[in-house]
Amino acid sequence: MRETGIAVVGGGPAGLCAAITASRLGAQVCLIDDNDRLGGQLIKQTHKFFGDKSHYCGTRGIDIASILFQELESTSTRVIPGTSVVGLYPGHVLGLADRSRFSKLACKSLIVATGAAENNLLFPGNDLPGVYGAGAVQTLMNVHGVRPGRRVLMVGSGNIGLIVSYQLVQAEIQVAAVVEALPNISGYHVHAAKLARLGVPILTSHTIKTALGHESVTGAVICKVDKNFGPVPRTERQLKLDTICLAVGLTPLAEILWQAGCQMAYVPELGGHVAWHDEKMQTNQKGIYVAGDVSGIEEASTAMLEGRVAGAHAFEQLRGSNTQSRRIIEQARTELRAIRQGPFSRRVVCGKNKLVEMAGK
Ligand SMILES: Cc1cc2nc3c(=O)[nH]c(=O)nc-3n(C[C@H](O)[C@H](O)[C@H](O)COP(=O)(O)OP(=O)(O)OC[C@H]3O[C@@H](n4cnc5c(N)ncnc54)[C@H](O)[C@@H]3O)c2cc1C
Repeated sequence: MRETGIAVVGGGPAGLCAAITASRLGAQVCLIDDNDRLGGQLIKQTHKFFGDKSHYCGTRGIDIASILFQELESTSTRVIPGTSVVGLYPGHVLGLADRSRFSKLACKSLIVATGAAENNLLFPGNDLPGVYGAGAVQTLMNVHGVRPGRRVLMVGSGNIGLIVSYQLVQAEIQVAAVVEALPNISGYHVHAAKLARLGVPILTSHTIKTALGHESVTGAVICKVDKNFGPVPRTERQLKLDTICLAVGLTPLAEILWQAGCQMAYVPELGGHVAWHDEKMQTNQKGIYVAGDVSGIEEASTAMLEGRVAGAHAFEQLRGSNTQSRRIIEQARTELRAIRQGPFSRRVVCGKNKLVEMAGK
């Protein structure tokens, strides 16, 4: 059985920043990710990030992954790629599985930064080949250079639905429509405007009713929905297409935290079940920290800052605090507060406040 001071599970922006921070402070760190390439969601994001200059605004996600990877390489972090953490034994012992073997890794502190999984939607035919999650479509196109289809229906007009629709058009794939059950577009209007200029219809108060086809998707029936999201009779429309792309939200990947016996809470504003955590990003299980989407669905900039907070606190728990660790924590917290003042963060702030209210209960 191998041993380390701090084990970080997940090599997305949150896990990378946690590992870089803890390692630079002087901790012995091991980072495990189930992909061969580190970066999490970032490696499929070819668009330039929005937000603040100090958080890589104007830089493509894929380039942010390279910057963080180079920073990680300049530390002594031990990286275990292509390996899934499949279990947690008592005493902070992780079960690791790669393609050929199972092994164990004991750690003193654990940072869980496993990100999120895409949500599915219930409708007849949702299991036909040709129905994808938006992340899968992005992986096919932007990581492997494979077109998912020729004509697509996008379900969901959040930032992910809008950005992936735009990337589909850039790859010369027709987007028949974006349907959105809410009466308004839920992502940034700057992305919606780009699509509208390209002639892609964004149909609000609409949803998919059925996927058509036997062997694979050949079309879809869409319809209007009322304010309770029920289908409005006689508004069905049939579209001919070969791909249906679902961008209907993400759910934190919290299995390890359930297994660790962490106090879990269902917080819709954070995307589902999350582990209760304090401002150190520590769960109610001493020495187990969370960072990024697993602690509440948000964005890469906040995932990186939460990673820094978790990495520095995990270091302090093992080795005590020093001026450098204090400075990192203060700066990351200040930046987190500033980012979360924006109108798009209201939901997350409300969710995180619910966790604060639960403290001590
Ligand atoms: C289309 C799209 C566009 C976006 N655009 C922006 C944007 O412009 N600006 C922005 O700030 N954010 C954006 N985001 C959001 C951002 O990508 C995420 O919030 C961010 O990647 C979350 O980081 P994370 O480290 O928590 O998780 P992830 O990036 O999901 O990384 C988690 C990693 O953990 C690995 N993992 C999970 N479970 C295990 C396990 N058991 N064992 C080993 N490894 C495991 C995963 O494979 C993954 O590599 C976008 C997201 C999408 C999908």
